[in-house]
Amino acid sequence: MGHTAKKIGIIGGGQLAWMMADGAQALDLHLTIQTPNQFDPAATIADDVVLGAIADAKATALLAKQCDVISFENEFIDLPALQHLENQGTLFYPQLRCLEPLLDKYDQRRYCQSLEIPSPGFVTLNSEADLPKLEASVTEIGLPLVLKTRRHGYDGQGTFILREFEAVQSTWARLGHQPILLEAFVGFERELAVMAARSQAGEIVLYPVVESQQIDQVCRRVIAPADVSDVVNQKVRHIATTLLTQLNVVGIFGIELFLTADDQVLINEIAPRTHNSGHYTLDACVTSQFEQQLRAVSGLALGSSDLKYPQAFMVNLLGFESSTSDYQERRAALAVLPNAHVYWYGKGESRPGRKLGHVTVTCDRTYSRDEINQLIHQVEALWYPV
Ligand code: ADP
Repeated sequence: MGHTAKKIGIIGGGQLAWMMADGAQALDLHLTIQTPNQFDPAATIADDVVLGAIADAKATALLAKQCDVISFENEFIDLPALQHLENQGTLFYPQLRCLEPLLDKYDQRRYCQSLEIPSPGFVTLNSEADLPKLEASVTEIGLPLVLKTRRHGYDGQGTFILREFEAVQSTWARLGHQPILLEAFVGFERELAVMAARSQAGEIVLYPVVESQQIDQVCRRVIAPADVSDVVNQKVRHIATTLLTQLNVVGIFGIELFLTADDQVLINEIAPRTHNSGHYTLDACVTSQFEQQLRAVSGLALGSSDLKYPQAFMVNLLGFESSTSDYQERRAALAVLPNAHVYWYGKGESRPGRKLGHVTVTCDRTYSRDEINQLIHQVEALWYPV
């Protein structure tokens, strides 16, 4: 490898960029962040900030002038505009050609299908002109189904589980007949996730397969490692390795999957960046997902993804009201739980469902399912009002 990059630009200034602080410091990197608001979480930890919307490629052009390489914490970018910058010599990791098949949920499904990665059945509808196809499409997929907007979905925004044809019709109308995906509803037994990194030298490091629990399509908890068979572990690892190898990507991906009762593993979604299901790595792994991303994009060797504890779990602190409170008392109560690590993103404003922070608990032994559930309950009881 040639020389390593020292000045890293990150598009996006939310909690994912905020949590890069320790990794950047450990690796002695200079972080410049492109984010729309000077009060965004990562603005406080950045060495420099370029103010600009995520999709503002003019701001990214400024960012590029100050950095050796640009990476992402948010993929709601203007890809064609960034391609101009790449043509003029700006280095992006992940490479823009790797993001191209992933930014739109339909393209992502088709890409996985081309790699023969098992996926839920899907069809796309693109505009009002496709209305005559709606009934046949719903029949093809079957009910219930999952309707998803093709771009800019996050935390279940743009994902609708629908049980009747009329609901599909009215939901799509409400969305202005924008391009959508209709997907077979997977009656999963559990949801799994894995973080996977690939370096410039082509080395791949996979993190433990974890279980993630969603409520109303938003991640609530993650348990590491997932209590699954070797066969299931192998299936997940094979999917992750296939993706990273086929793309020749440099960076880190969060991969979400469904596990069915008969041990089938289907892919749900690929995030081309760090991910909520990997927050536990900050406290529980030798190298956090955030440091790993920085290692990959700056040209360093990857670090170990090994767990430092037999087990760990993470609970998201989601907003439960509209408020400007910073919840000092609740956070203080959480912080004194044994082996708890509380992260507070400093967002300034709470809304129901908004990710405000998270708690990771590292465990000195492997707990039973019941014990884990009790511990999770203990954390949630200190956060959510009864
Ligand atoms: P987002 O992009 O907002 O994260 P996802 O597509 O990951 O949305 O969906 C969020 C959640 O919705 C998933 O974690 C899962 O619980 C549920 N979900 C999504 N797709 C399906 C599906 N095809 N079958 C069953 N549940 C689904």
